[in-house]
Amino acid sequence: MLIVKKFGGTSVADKERIYNVAKRCIEDYYAGNDVVVVLSAMGKYTDELLDMAHDISEKPPKREVDMLLTVGEQISVSLMAMAMNELRVPAVSLNAFQVSMHSTSDHGNARLKRIDTERILRELENRKIVLVTGFQGVNKFDDYTTLGRGGSDTTAVALAAALHADACEIYTDVDGIYTADPRLVPTARKLKEITYDEMLDLATLGAGVLHNRSVEMAKKYSVPLVVRSSLNNNEGTVVKEEISVERMLISGVALDTDAVRIAVIGLKDVPGTAFKVFDVLAKKKINVDVILQSIGRSGTKDISFTVHKNDLDEAVAALEAARARLGFKELHAVKSIAKLSIVGAGMMSNPGVAAKMFESLYNAGVNINMISTSEIRVTVLINEKDGIRAMNAVHDAFDLAD
Ligand code: ADP
Ligand code: ASP
Ligand code: MG
Repeated sequence: MLIVKKFGGTSVADKERIYNVAKRCIEDYYAGNDVVVVLSAMGKYTDELLDMAHDISEKPPKREVDMLLTVGEQISVSLMAMAMNELRVPAVSLNAFQVSMHSTSDHGNARLKRIDTERILRELENRKIVLVTGFQGVNKFDDYTTLGRGGSDTTAVALAAALHADACEIYTDVDGIYTADPRLVPTARKLKEITYDEMLDLATLGAGVLHNRSVEMAKKYSVPLVVRSSLNNNEGTVVKEEISVERMLISGVALDTDAVRIAVIGLKDVPGTAFKVFDVLAKKKINVDVILQSIGRSGTKDISFTVHKNDLDEAVAALEAARARLGFKELHAVKSIAKLSIVGAGMMSNPGVAAKMFESLYNAGVNINMISTSEIRVTVLINEKDGIRAMNAVHDAFDLAD
């Protein structure tokens, strides 16, 4: 079997944990498998590197930030190779350049396009454990890129797809995927299985347990994923196309506090206004989420929407630059908001799910600012200070608790 195993930052945070991971990988190796291991930077090292960058410069060039961040994962893989060497198992560490993991050019948010498998296969052929840096790619200018925070998951899935791996295991600091972030919702329950679509929505809506692109890629290439703990042997959660266990009404609740709301006030109420507003943002590759259009005064309208907080400055600048053409009166940005979502394929055939969510928020005294829905999710925008309380209220209202 060829197994791709990925370990996150907490799982390799210190010497003891590095040896713990080394031993887990070696077990698979001695069982006769080919083992490819993807690692993240140790502990919170990526945050520390980012702090260093922002200490030197308020707006560091994105290329140089990526150059700096790639160091984090390189430390992990080289130390891991040394640990395995100590344990008398041949291992080799490789970065994105050495593997040749081709990505798009967007620094800080690149997408993997193609992975050359030759070097990895050769090392496996020589019976080595191959340790690959997560989170990084190389663009057409031969510069390092990074895949967005949490992107090592995507490296692992991409490698599993490219190598036609038999298993892709994501090891982290919780026992699997829960009905809500167990650190925020104490009653959250571990799921045995979840579908790609549900997990993709949860990941996109704030469940940081998996990078959303990793789920997107797993679905596209039918890579079955297992999420489990690096600290114990408990059974984890399987992410796949169809699940066999009995379906609950909803599978999970997610909270996203990284969103900000922008309101464009006093736009002309004529055809094409919404198109022009969102085209300005699309040209800057800014993702827009929950959208609300409402009637303003005397033939005008207002459009509100959310963007990721990292995109706020760029979105405001782009809209201001187009002010004359768009013809709006005011632009407001609100940072203290949270997006709360419920996700579940079970809601397709069950009317009343949204109403139940709203009722539980009403009972908890939480005000809703905006609402958006899809076939398998309902998202509401609320005040940030209500976030965790609202999340618990909704979670427990759907009987997801243990
Ligand atoms: P890693 O460093 O291993 O990639 P992350 O911090 O990225 O770990 O992801 C694991 C964390 O995701 C958990 O510690 C947990 O707090 C958080 N999390 C958010 N939503 C969920 C969920 N639905 N199920 C499990 N964990 C979740
Ligand atoms: N080290 C990177 C981060 O902190 C990538 C990852 O952990 O997946 O975002
Ligand atoms: Mg992660």
